[in-house]
Amino acid sequence: MSTEKKQGGLAEKLLYNNKSIFELESSDERARMMEFAEDYKYFLDRSKTEREATEQIIMTLDASGFREYHLGDKVKAGDRLYYNNRGKNVFAISVGRESIENGVRICASHIDSPRLDLKPSPLFEADGVGYFKTHYYGGIRKYQWTTIPLALHGVVTRADGTTVNVNVGEDKGDPVFCISDLLPHLSKDQDTKKLSEAFSGEGLNIMICSSPYTDENGEITESDAVKLNVMKLLNDKYGIVETDFLSAELTAVPAGGAYDIGFDRWLIGAYGHDDKCCAYPTLRAVVDAGETEHTVIVTFADKEETGSCGVTGMKSSILIDIIDALSEQFGVNPALVRSRSCCLSADVTAAFDPNYSDVFEKRNSAYLHRGVALAKYTGARGKSSTNDTSAEYAGFVRSMLDRENVVWQMAELGKVDAGGGGTVAMYISQFNIDTIDIGVPVISMHAPFEIISKADLYEAYKAFAAFCK
Ligand code: MN
Ligand code: MN
Repeated sequence: MSTEKKQGGLAEKLLYNNKSIFELESSDERARMMEFAEDYKYFLDRSKTEREATEQIIMTLDASGFREYHLGDKVKAGDRLYYNNRGKNVFAISVGRESIENGVRICASHIDSPRLDLKPSPLFEADGVGYFKTHYYGGIRKYQWTTIPLALHGVVTRADGTTVNVNVGEDKGDPVFCISDLLPHLSKDQDTKKLSEAFSGEGLNIMICSSPYTDENGEITESDAVKLNVMKLLNDKYGIVETDFLSAELTAVPAGGAYDIGFDRWLIGAYGHDDKCCAYPTLRAVVDAGETEHTVIVTFADKEETGSCGVTGMKSSILIDIIDALSEQFGVNPALVRSRSCCLSADVTAAFDPNYSDVFEKRNSAYLHRGVALAKYTGARGKSSTNDTSAEYAGFVRSMLDRENVVWQMAELGKVDAGGGGTVAMYISQFNIDTIDIGVPVISMHAPFEIISKADLYEAYKAFAAFCK
């Protein structure tokens, strides 16, 4: 639907007919989709954690003439700014030509993804093998994280207060890590368990070492020799001791980069599409916009996958603090500004998966290659915890997308009683800001290897670009 390239008869005029980009977009536009996907894969491969994504985003903003903003700074129309919240959450701000009294336009994506965090005291050895204990972050299906190569990312703050970066498993020649699983020859008991019970959180231990520490003569002279070997190697490389794990954020993520999927290369398989496939298009939209008519704030949030809590999550007051500070600079009542503001909650939704069609309701699903997906509401069961935007705001966004020839679709996550999910939408609308969910449809969401369409990624960019003007 949405573009008006094909004018048919009465059915065309009156009936809802969801078309794919192969019917709606020109071959020039399709070539641009392929190019955009290359830029996205470059960003994605360098943004596996919220810290790395923040770094990439700020690098891009710096290179595009944005400068760092602090609460209370003087601002004027045309300013392009960014606010760095603790290196894990960032805001790009374009101060518009029109008065801020008319409200602010917000695009809100998140840059954290499901993964396996190390526990505060993660290191142990058992029967000659060294392991890290993990505590999963976000909603994962545990069995998917076994027998795949894992990389270790994060930071460790040492006792002296200095912080060291860790990144092992991504560079050519790096070792990787792994969680083992049973061989089918011995899995008879496990095979009869329910899937939700066959794999436990405490079982997600990562194999990190299999040799003991030996002295200069090659002799084992100490106890806990495998653990000691791990700490010796880490101490040599990072100058850390075991207690430094207590003040660390180390996380295991799938090792390796994004792939094109399919002979035709129209899909991208990678870790962390949720929600970098929305974050990157919002970044490009605000960068490419130049000076804007409206004041635009693009937020790249942390902690969405665990409920948006914490100082770098969307439940933190920082977005509102920024809106209020900007309003005050122009002598406008911040509450008035918020009441006239609006938001696109930029997060992924489920793509209809022909291989699991029974959990989807076909008339209200998002399909690959049919464009960016709007969701009037999310939630579970009886729309529990949903933002559920108004018909008026859905109508406003719909008209805007049609005007800009964006290919889009409207969707629910899946069948009514099949499950459910949420986004940051409700944490923004609670401040009297009209908000709707919009994002790229994903197959295998939250898996170590998620799948999206290059076309939908690009249509998301066009949607955010239409909004960030
Ligand atoms: Mn998400
Ligand atoms: Mn998610």
